[in-house]
Order: sequence, then structure tokens, then C-alpha cells
Amino acid sequence: MRSHYCGDLRASHDGETVELCGWVSRRRDHGGVIFLDLRDRNGLVQVVFDPDTVEAFALADKVRSEYVVRLSGRVRMRDEAVRNSKMSTGDIEVLGKELTILNEAETPPFELDAHSAAGEEVRLKYRYMDLRRPEVLKNFQFRSRLTHVVRAFLEGEGFMDVETPILTRATPEGARDYLVPSRTHPGSFFALPQSPQLFKQLLMVAGFDRYYQIAKCFRDEDLRADRQPEFTQIDLEASFVEEEDIMGITERMVRSVFKELLAVDLPEFPRMPFSEAMQRFGSDKPDLRIPLELIDIADLLAGVDFKVFSGPANDPKGRVAAMRVPGGCSLSRKDIDGYTKFVSIYGAKGLAYIKVNDLAAGAEGLQSPILKFLTEDAIKGILERTGAETGDLIFFGADKAKIVNEALGALRVKVGHDLNLVEGEWAPLWVVDFPMFEEDEGQYHALHHPFTMPSCSAEELKSNPAEALSRAYDMVLNGTELGGGSIRIHNPAMQRTVFEALGISDEEADEKFGFLLDGLKYGAPPHGGLAFGLDRMVMLMTGCESIRDVIAFPKTQTAACTMTNAPSPVDNKQLREVGVQVRKEEG
Ligand code: ASP
Repeated sequence: MRSHYCGDLRASHDGETVELCGWVSRRRDHGGVIFLDLRDRNGLVQVVFDPDTVEAFALADKVRSEYVVRLSGRVRMRDEAVRNSKMSTGDIEVLGKELTILNEAETPPFELDAHSAAGEEVRLKYRYMDLRRPEVLKNFQFRSRLTHVVRAFLEGEGFMDVETPILTRATPEGARDYLVPSRTHPGSFFALPQSPQLFKQLLMVAGFDRYYQIAKCFRDEDLRADRQPEFTQIDLEASFVEEEDIMGITERMVRSVFKELLAVDLPEFPRMPFSEAMQRFGSDKPDLRIPLELIDIADLLAGVDFKVFSGPANDPKGRVAAMRVPGGCSLSRKDIDGYTKFVSIYGAKGLAYIKVNDLAAGAEGLQSPILKFLTEDAIKGILERTGAETGDLIFFGADKAKIVNEALGALRVKVGHDLNLVEGEWAPLWVVDFPMFEEDEGQYHALHHPFTMPSCSAEELKSNPAEALSRAYDMVLNGTELGGGSIRIHNPAMQRTVFEALGISDEEADEKFGFLLDGLKYGAPPHGGLAFGLDRMVMLMTGCESIRDVIAFPKTQTAACTMTNAPSPVDNKQLREVGVQVRKEEG
């Protein structure tokens, strides 16, 4: 139906007759001539209809925004004075000769130019309209190129694309499962995969050696952060490998993606143990572009007569940390109140600070509501250890270590951005030496997942699970976890030891993971892998604010699709067929 894409026309087409198809982006009537901006996937071009092409002119007069048309015309140069250097087709226009209306369009639910006024709810309900916006489309073109580069890279490295089931058993990655009732086995349910984890391990048992998949994963989590119930991973696994192999391959993969798509040469990927990341940055995914650090000062404050500090300083699970903000004296009372509110989201009960107005002036030069509670020695120690200088501000966190880490960790990023302290554009790193387990009220949970190989022997793991480290690694970029993986357990006895530490009995292990334990019995090679969050990677590289911007049909914050109205009730017949009865909530 067409000879060219609208957006591809240039001065080099001057004089050519072209046939175009697309949507009317705008129609303007300029005293006797009609201008249509015609839009397709590749961009916009201006088309002019003169009254002397009587029929086409009459039709052009009738079209409205978002009508679908086909037209033919001649490309001509615009007058110098009206060339538009901001448009890729801005040097030319098309003099329209013939016009066909292929389809009419009702008044759009929102003006594409005024999308932000429409609100996300409306935009998601009419997502296909939102996707017509060139800046949205651009993200999907980028995403498509990215997966292409990834596939080419991995195929080049000998990885094989294998699909794994969507209807399966639960794979624990720490979230709730989406369940699907079975009609042929009434009362039984499939779970949608939280990841292809166990299947990819079994492919290694099968001898496939190197597997990858661009895989949909499903996790029924509370959507507080920027998460989606279904999302995509670049998932991979390889046999006869150690940490260095997987980290090496995936680092090269990410480098080539950045090089090919953004022409960026990523800097070194430093390696940082989990414990160091938590200590210095309060986070296992530190944004290394921000030069602020947490500094432990519990020892300086254990003896002060101020419970807020001495309490956590003497609590083995507590932490007291300081964070020096260079030039932070410029922060107003109002700014500090704002930050106090900000850290309260993470459970911090307050945000103490000292302003160093004049370091040389001693106590006189300091300004802080907490000075009166601290000894001279403590103050001196804090100033020395943080390296504070005149003009700086020191923030404090004192609470359970988890709260201090989360609160100061997030504050560091926020203050870093607010005060323009961000250095450099891209700061990747590997976080390594994760603990095997996290403890929560006496119960251990796998920090990565239960199939991760510990760095220690089974005996050591049994005798001291809290201290055991794992052979897991995360790739972090600009404070975002791009991907994570590990060397896996490949022998059944070790796997049982880990299940036991997690409080999973032998019977439960057999019932839930018998197929894996079986597989490990029949000659499982040493293996390991990693999975990247594709949506997050695209979001970071395109500079989008939300992963919803890079998913064609995302769910809302309440895990629903307002366009299709999913999830939706089903009729009783369907429920009966799958053996499900819906319980009416009482009251
Ligand atoms: N399956 C893991 C995850 O989704 C990644 C991996 O260990 O390969 O987090």
C-alpha cells in the first residue's frame, strides 16, 4: 500500500512521487490550503493539499485527528523560511494529490500531545493510543534492538535458546505464586513460574551445557515499588563453570549491549563483598556514582548518656552510623525536615544532624539539637572519623542495623541527587560473598534462592548457618540490581542440608522438589548461571522512570489490566469445570 514510511522522507526524495499510509496527527486549515501531519512508525511528515486537487482537498477537509489514511503526492523542498530543523523530515513536505480515508477515528480519549494531563489510568486503559506516541514507541524499538544484541551475543557464545513451561510447579524465588486450576486434575493447581530456575538446572543435568531464554516470570508480590507481576528475564545457565566464567560472560554481554546501543564503554566492574556494601552504603546495590558513605561510630557513642544513640550502640543487632554531606550546611531547616520525613518511610524515628559551620571554632562552630547530649570526646571522634570540614553536615542513623541501612542508604541517594553530587554516568559493580541466609524471627530464608551453593562445607553450614556465605553474585548498575545469579548446588546431599537449614523437612523437600533431587542423583554437572531483569535494563538505558514505560501492556499498581479488565470473575460453569468454588468473604 505504500512506497515509503512518512518518517523516512528527506531532501534526497525531492521530486519523487510517494505513497504513504498512516495516522493524521494534526490537521490545520491555513486560508485555503490544508496541512496534514501524517504519522507512522518512523515519524511525521507534513502533507499539503491545495484546492485545485478538488477531490483530495474535499476529503482532507473531512479528516480528523487519528484518522487512518493513504495518500499519494510529490515530495518538494519547503521554503527556506519554513524549514524545521527539529523534525527529521523538516526540510521537505509532500504535495498531496490523492487521498483515501482507510478508517475513521472517534475523538481520542486523550490528546497524544497532552498525555500527561490524561493521567496514567486513562492512558493504560487506552494503552494502544498511548503507544502511538513517538517517545513511547522509541522505547520499544530500543528494547527490540537490545534483545537482538543479547541473542546474537549469547548464540555467539554457544548458548542455546530453550523454552521452559509456563504451567508448572512453584519455583521459590521469594514471592507468592500465581495459581492456575487444573480441569483434568480437579483440586490441583499449576503455578506460573517465578523464574525458570529449576528447569534450567535440569537442562544442565540433561547436558545442554549452555542455555538461555528471554523468559516471562510471574511473581505475586506487593507492588509497593516499581514492580510488575509479570516481567521478563534474560535467563542463562552453563555447566562446568565457576563464578569467574559466568561473571566474565555476562559482563562482556552487558558491555556489548552498552557499546552497540548507546556507544558507551562501561568502566571497570569493581567487586565488592556484600558486607562492605552494607557497611559503606547501607545497600547491597549501592549507587557508586554518589560519593557519600556511612561511617560506623557505635564505639564512640556506646557510653553517652543519650539512649537514642547508646541503645543501638550497645545492641548487637543495632547500628549507629554517620554520613558526612560535603557542603551540607546549605541545607535549610525545611530541607532537613523533608529528609526526616523521608527516612521515616524506612522506619527511622528521627534524623539527627550536626552542621559544621566553622570547624576551627570548636563547639561554638557546630550547630545541632543533639550537641548537648554528646561528650566532647564523642564529638571530636565523630568529626575526625567522618573527616568533616567547615560547611559540611553530618547526618546520623541509630536503630536496628536494618533500619539504619535502609534509611541512610536511601537518604544517601536522595541527598546525592538533590545536591548534585552524582559523579559520572555509569557505575557498574559486582556484589559478591552474600550470606546464604537471612534470619527473621529465628527462621532462616535463602537470601538468593535455596539452590545456591554455599561457599563452605555442609558441616560448616549446619554448625553455623548464620555466618555461611554463598557463591552468589549480583551485577549492579547505578544503584539498580541488573541481574543476579549463583553457582548452584549439584549434589543431592548438600541440597538436602540447605533445605534442612531452611526448615524444609525431607518429606516436604521430596514432595515439592523431588524432581530436582532426583535429577541431581543422575549425574548433575557443576553448573551456575544468572538472570537479568530485562525491563529494568531497558528502563535504565532509555532513562525511563518506570518499568511500565518499557512494557507494552503493563499492569497497574494493583496488579490489574484496566484495558482488558483482567483479572475478572468467571461464570459458574467455568468454575465447576476446574473444580473451584469461590468463597464469599463474610461481612
Ligand atoms: N533464578 C534467579 C532469579 O530469578 C536468577 C538465577 O539465580 O539465575 O533471581
